[in-house]
Amino acid sequence: MRKVHELRWNPLLGCWIIVAGHRARRPWRPEEKKRICPFCPGAPETKDEGEWDVLVLPNKYPALSLDAEEPNMKDEFYRHGRAVGVCEVVVETPIHEGDLCDLSLDHMKKVIDAYTDEYEKLGKLREVKYVVIFRNKGKEIGVSLTHPHSQIYALPFIPPRIAVELKNFRRFMEEKGSCLLCTIIEKERRENKRLIYENDGFVCLLPFFAMWPYEVHVYPKRHVTSLSELSNEERLQLADALRIITGTYNNLFDRDMPYIMVIHQRPTDGEEYPYYHMHIEFYPPYREKDKLKYAAGIEWGTWTFTYDGVPEEKAKELRMACLKFLSKVDKHLGRCVS
Ligand SMILES: [Zn+2]
Ligand SMILES: [Zn+2]
Ligand SMILES: [Zn+2]
Repeated sequence: MRKVHELRWNPLLGCWIIVAGHRARRPWRPEEKKRICPFCPGAPETKDEGEWDVLVLPNKYPALSLDAEEPNMKDEFYRHGRAVGVCEVVVETPIHEGDLCDLSLDHMKKVIDAYTDEYEKLGKLREVKYVVIFRNKGKEIGVSLTHPHSQIYALPFIPPRIAVELKNFRRFMEEKGSCLLCTIIEKERRENKRLIYENDGFVCLLPFFAMWPYEVHVYPKRHVTSLSELSNEERLQLADALRIITGTYNNLFDRDMPYIMVIHQRPTDGEEYPYYHMHIEFYPPYREKDKLKYAAGIEWGTWTFTYDGVPEEKAKELRMACLKFLSKVDKHLGRCVS
């Protein structure tokens, strides 16, 4: 098979696709086949690191790399690009099982610190225009390794979903003279219909416009465009918020809840984005204890989401689960808003 590693431009949608032929060979859940987990202490990948709580490793099967070659095929019509960038893994704990809510608050703060350091380090690279930090959990999401970890992709372009958000934030600022998310936070706190949890620095809510049944957004109360602008105390408050939301999810149906978590921040392409307000989005795929919500024909085929249920009622369910988790968790900084 010819080795193909490049960006291809989709002219119908106007976005880049990362073609990484080599990634098809990566192992699926190696530890289930009794092979050693690569993220546990003592594995070849981690054994030179000494004592560690949080470890940043290069992705062994990177979709992007800094030494990516020029595409070896020229075409007078289709656009190619170099698959240049960085893919990393953040191993969040030496312990093989668990979720963010199972880390202590201080440990979770170290994970946030690692996210912040990598965002800054990778964002400084000339090739990198956008750093996306995300966490996939559960086999339903296609996670190939169960050891708690998140991932970082440093991209050579601004991804389309972020580009849409930037456009809408900018337009709102131009038309209303204020920040879209600051406005939403103020409204949601005033009306208190969809709030789940808040501490001094962050508010967690099910958005009015949720696409997934139990989608939750985590917003910093202060207008900041990236993790870099958070104070030390705010990073601790963010750690608290992410612990509480993942704990809330695991208490919702009394099952280990799969989810996608994505951090949306300003691009690192050297431009200014004062109108943008960073945030974290969670998309869990379940709509009931054992019923998955799929992005199917209408959703994936047209990007039109149907919401099965009433967002305000789902928010209430999440608040109950949050209260349940708060009664069990060792330490928390905020309150469930009910
Ligand atoms: Zn492990
Ligand atoms: Zn704002
Ligand atoms: Zn967003």
